[in-house]
Amino acid sequence: MDPNLAAALAEDDDAEDAGMHADDRRTCWTHQYWAEDCADDRMHTHPRALS
Ligand SMILES: [Zn+2]
Repeated sequence: MDPNLAAALAEDDDAEDAGMHADDRRTCWTHQYWAEDCADDRMHTHPRALS
């Protein structure tokens, strides 16, 4: 995995745990990838709700 992506995923996880809305993530929790690169997938509206 891209180290920058891994770091961004970890930051988003921490931020979301701290109260950030899932829509404000830069990364895709579902696919463990950049949100902007898979935002066309309709699963992405509320990634955490699927877990
Ligand atoms: Zn995705």
